[in-house]
Amino acid sequence: MSEPFDTVIHSGLIATADQQFKGDLAIKDGRIVAVAEQIAGGARRIDAGGRIVMPGGIEAHAHIAQESAAGVMTADDYYSGSVSAAFGGNSSFIPFAAQHRGQSIDEVLANYDVRGARSVIDYSYHLIVSDPTEDVLYDQLPRAFARGITSFKVFTTYDLLNLGDAGMLDILTVAREHGAITMVHCENDAMVKWMNRQLAVRGLTAPKYHAVSRPALAEEEAINRAIQLAKLVDTPLFIVHVSTPGGAEIVRREKFNGAKLFAETCPQYLALTREALDRPGMEGAKFICSPPVRDHETQDALWHHVAQGTFESVSSDHAPYRADESGKFGAGLDAPYPKIANGMPGIAMRLPYLFSEGVVAGRITLEQFVALSATNAAKTFGCTAKGRIAPGMDADLAIWDPEEGWTATLADQHDNMDYTPFEGMRITGKPKLVLNRGAVIVEEGALKALEGQGRFFGRAPADLRVRKGVALPEFDPARNFGVELRR
Ligand SMILES: [Zn+2]
Repeated sequence: MSEPFDTVIHSGLIATADQQFKGDLAIKDGRIVAVAEQIAGGARRIDAGGRIVMPGGIEAHAHIAQESAAGVMTADDYYSGSVSAAFGGNSSFIPFAAQHRGQSIDEVLANYDVRGARSVIDYSYHLIVSDPTEDVLYDQLPRAFARGITSFKVFTTYDLLNLGDAGMLDILTVAREHGAITMVHCENDAMVKWMNRQLAVRGLTAPKYHAVSRPALAEEEAINRAIQLAKLVDTPLFIVHVSTPGGAEIVRREKFNGAKLFAETCPQYLALTREALDRPGMEGAKFICSPPVRDHETQDALWHHVAQGTFESVSSDHAPYRADESGKFGAGLDAPYPKIANGMPGIAMRLPYLFSEGVVAGRITLEQFVALSATNAAKTFGCTAKGRIAPGMDADLAIWDPEEGWTATLADQHDNMDYTPFEGMRITGKPKLVLNRGAVIVEEGALKALEGQGRFFGRAPADLRVRKGVALPEFDPARNFGVELRR
């Protein structure tokens, strides 16, 4: 009789989003087929040696091989970006496929399919919509949805991306019809522009003024507004990169009241403050991202929200622009802050940072870590075969040494960047072995994956079972419009 299992991982501490137990698991044809106290056999036996066996991370917010609206290409393509993600304990990711004005969605996806083919881990896309023409709304988005691209992203700021409230309502309404979830970048555009003018007329354009120019209130106002827009048409909303206690409070309250609402924060808002932007010369430019990093009180408040369940995920928002003319300084090495590319890298640091400062520091449990790193993203973004350890699920796994101490350096990132904002940070805990569909992709600091072995995966709609939504009497398409909303 042939060997029933391709791989057996034994003697591990298996951690899921709701329990941890000593046990073994068996893999066949890329999927988990058994989980038990002891499993014999296996063509390959991997001794976890008491270390933690958990679902491989799902990175749900990353900018990979993406041109910004201003035309600057990220430093990481799907090869380097996925390699960096894998070293950081991720088995899959969902970067953005970005529509620029004038482009059709079909063209966008065709471009990203070529780019994505280089990935070493499984991938899907969130679709950024910046030009919601009639054809996009009623023909192209439904086609994208039909191939499993079930999340759209919109912006409330940036001139080339901002759809305005009415544009957002149009997208939300299309999303409603198809069961898609809409992600939104929340900052009040007028507040940011007004602050920019106040600073510019006074010649205050050094990197540190970036943080001044984007007040916490701008985020809070836009988060509140986006939630109310989504409630009007009763459709799920995902607030990306929440960076303020006020924003997090609004999310918590609206979730408590039943809104179809999801949210994330990112390690940079937990780990860094605006003091980083005040480094000498243009060093501060490396820490420019939007919304900006804030202060110590904000860090404490956001950690509290992470621990209390306000956020489904902690995502990296990996937006890699090198500190040279190819990235941050496309407008010159002494560019004023509004012309410096926004974003910082961190896809390899998301999970080690969250494990070290979360689990090891005692702020969250190991189960919460699994939920925040993989399981919740799978539920929110419809990755039905990923993010859990159970028979039938993809064998996307990471084995972590919870005790290994190390200091973050650029070399550990395995990306195409020339800096890491986490340089010199002391970390406890490290992913030692990472698998994607049963194939070992990283082992003891060495890449084992081949370019292009990752696969695109289509996704289902968000799991809304505990989110009933808010029924408004004024918005009842069947009653008030006579028909379900369409064009
Ligand atoms: Zn982002």
